[in-house]
Amino acid sequence: MYTTQMDAARQHIITEEMKAVAAYEQMEEAEVCRLIAAGQLVIPANRHHTCRKSYGIGSMLKTKINVNLGTSRDCLDLDMEMEKVRHAVQMGAEAIMDLSSFGDTQTFRRKLVAECPAILGTVPIYDALVYYHKALKDITAQEWLDVFRMHAEDGVDFMTIHCGINRQTAQRFKQQKRITNIVSRGGSIMFAWMEITGNENPFYEYFDEVLRICREHDVTLSLGDACRPGCLEDAGDIAQMEELVTLGELTQRAWAQDVQVIIEGPGHMPLHQIQANMELQKTICKGAPFYVLGPIVTDVAPGYDHITAAIGGAMAAAYGASFLCYVTPAEHLSLPDVDDVKEGIIASKIAAHAADIAKGVKGAMDWDHQMAVARGNLDWERMFALAMDPDKARAYRAQSAPEREDTCTMCGKMCAIRNMNKLLRGEIVDIMEED
Ligand code: SF4
Repeated sequence: MYTTQMDAARQHIITEEMKAVAAYEQMEEAEVCRLIAAGQLVIPANRHHTCRKSYGIGSMLKTKINVNLGTSRDCLDLDMEMEKVRHAVQMGAEAIMDLSSFGDTQTFRRKLVAECPAILGTVPIYDALVYYHKALKDITAQEWLDVFRMHAEDGVDFMTIHCGINRQTAQRFKQQKRITNIVSRGGSIMFAWMEITGNENPFYEYFDEVLRICREHDVTLSLGDACRPGCLEDAGDIAQMEELVTLGELTQRAWAQDVQVIIEGPGHMPLHQIQANMELQKTICKGAPFYVLGPIVTDVAPGYDHITAAIGGAMAAAYGASFLCYVTPAEHLSLPDVDDVKEGIIASKIAAHAADIAKGVKGAMDWDHQMAVARGNLDWERMFALAMDPDKARAYRAQSAPEREDTCTMCGKMCAIRNMNKLLRGEIVDIMEED
């Protein structure tokens, strides 16, 4: 009856996925359907990922977050990666990208598809290197596409392909000096392959084949930004803009085949450039949902890049980004451990929620309203229940017991909330005396 969610929407068919998204976002089903048909909302929903919960991604919806994980040559512990998955799902991450680049990647990917309710994403370029286990120069264009197809058949909901860095963009990149060159892992692999073989980017040259695979399995394309800036000074340069224009053209071609698209964005970017960058993307890519990797707003805080990214992410989402890729404190330094993953998720969720309040997303302010009421009543249990990280909030209070139960050790008997509540009830407040 239909191939993709976009195809269904264009036939005015309300799918089960659209109904679930409408209920979760408190929207009319017909509105969800209209936005999907127009490409402004996507529901990544590979038909083989049957345990998946349906989430929509679009600037008018709650901002969603993605958690990256997966094995590397230096850290090959599948149990630890599955533990990260469990934490990520428990903590409310809507999407997980498996970026495994070492070991038995297909077994891990299939386990994720079988067990993980979050939306699943991959970057098949990484996996191709593991799968073929041969020199980059010897991988053929057909082999790159075959791995893409394998991920689609395995049940991956969205896939990043770096098809914007074609030979023309690569040429522009080489003409423009950059401090950090290409920092996208997939982008650098594709650039190297083009340089070594002299061939066009296979995902660009055979984009129609990519679209046929996406259409068959309902894979959402995440158009990767190989030329995303890797430092503030490289932000908004010609290579980044040239690639964005190509991504805009490819978006139109994908929509013509009813394939859902999200666009990947920066990267490192100064705070004052973020609004303009979001507006440029929305204009060039006709409102396709924007998936930002940060943006990291200063280069000088290794060890704290969950904070630099949350600042940029909040601003980007407030100005129209729909999907935030989390960044952990280990960014630029090492593969994150479980605690780093938790810190990264909380930081991203704070950014997403702050943006939802700014955008006026339905229900976003209610949470803060409830917390404010609990604080006003000095209702500690209620505050813990509402906290984004209840365990951390409870632990802080437990480690520093106040003299009076209805205050905390910050102000003790000078607790402004307690004293104001007493005053307004007509009770006497004597801070120096026991009362
Ligand atoms: S003691 Fe101070 S910081 Fe603690 S709840 Fe009261 S006003 Fe707030």
